[in-house]
Amino acid sequence: LESKLPSVGTTIFTVMSTLAAEKGAVNLGQGFPDFECDPLLVHAVTDAMTRGLNQYPPMTGVPVLREAVAAKIARLHGHSYNPHTEITITAGATQAIITAILAVVHPGDEVIVLEPCYDSYVPNIELAGGTVVRVPLTPGTFRPDFDKISQAITSRTRAILINSPHNPSATVWSQADMLKLQEILAPTDVLLISDEVYEHMVFDAAKGQVHQSAARFPGLAARAFIVSSFGKTYHVTGWKVGTVAAPAALSAEFRKVHQFNVFTVNTPVQYGLAAYMADDRPYVDLPAFYQRKRDLFRAGLANTRFKLLPSEGSYFQCVDISDVSDLNEAEFCQWLTTEIGVAAIPLSAFYGDGFDQRVVRFCFAKKDETLHAALERLAKL
Ligand code: PMP
Ligand code: GLN
Repeated sequence: LESKLPSVGTTIFTVMSTLAAEKGAVNLGQGFPDFECDPLLVHAVTDAMTRGLNQYPPMTGVPVLREAVAAKIARLHGHSYNPHTEITITAGATQAIITAILAVVHPGDEVIVLEPCYDSYVPNIELAGGTVVRVPLTPGTFRPDFDKISQAITSRTRAILINSPHNPSATVWSQADMLKLQEILAPTDVLLISDEVYEHMVFDAAKGQVHQSAARFPGLAARAFIVSSFGKTYHVTGWKVGTVAAPAALSAEFRKVHQFNVFTVNTPVQYGLAAYMADDRPYVDLPAFYQRKRDLFRAGLANTRFKLLPSEGSYFQCVDISDVSDLNEAEFCQWLTTEIGVAAIPLSAFYGDGFDQRVVRFCFAKKDETLHAALERLAKL
């Protein structure tokens, strides 16, 4: 059989979580919380099940959840999406992203990704028959290089994928960045897929940091699929429920694919989330919740020879390993898991050519005791 994805193996997240479990390591690799979600959310879901909301929901998602999502976007970003024609509930951000790509990318179309990028983007484009155009983020700072982005756009460019707050680098795009992207795309018909799964994890509000959703920029919103994930915001990564917001014409194409790759998403979780969304506090409190964990983790790492990179958003902290080891990132993560008992993710996993920047990623979405246990082991380095 000729593979459709010859260069793809098992995702790094599965590889590292398996190794961590085998070695009894503290798992700061794969990005997921090791603590429970709010019991009120569990109650809202079980309540929906008990009330008999267990059959297929509408293909596009239950109306109350779509309405809650549209109202939230309008409140936070001042852009009104029609919940019936422009919001779709998906099986996590992963399915939203591949569905958007399959819906708009024709064989031979070029799609721009900014490297390093989340590991599903490139195989998704390849499955759609698209040509991947890799534009590097600036080495060291991971900032977008708009000259390079501009130069990468051709008459065959169908779409560009962006992700802020960014996995893996934990950088956050500024308003100026988004305005620049809007300006570059203005004379083109290039579509935008904006992966905003960490939208509620932007730190240092005092320094003026806020999440710059594509929804805030009319010239971007008009061409964008904006993707998010309840898994990240509500500490339920295993529920696999997300959203895509897009103008009606784009949503219509999205739904043509969605109805045949997943059809719809589980009913009681959607009703539970809709009920839980009546209270804004969980996501309003999230930046402070994670900023405290980030600061705790960074303070502990300050006692090691790791060089800390900024963590402006997401639940990741990257470190430069040059003063700690001569191993390449991938070997270092294997060694760290096996010998020191802490799992991390090598940044090379987010590059097509395995580019070694001497940087690894830790996830701090963990109980304080887990972070302390990891720091105790890392203190040896
Ligand atoms: N995009 C990014 C940048 C992510 O980090 C993740 C989660 N690891 C996803 C998409 C996928 O999200 P979900 O679990 O909702 O499919
Ligand atoms: N998004 C998570 C991460 O970056 C992992 C999700 C997955 O395992 N596919 O760690």
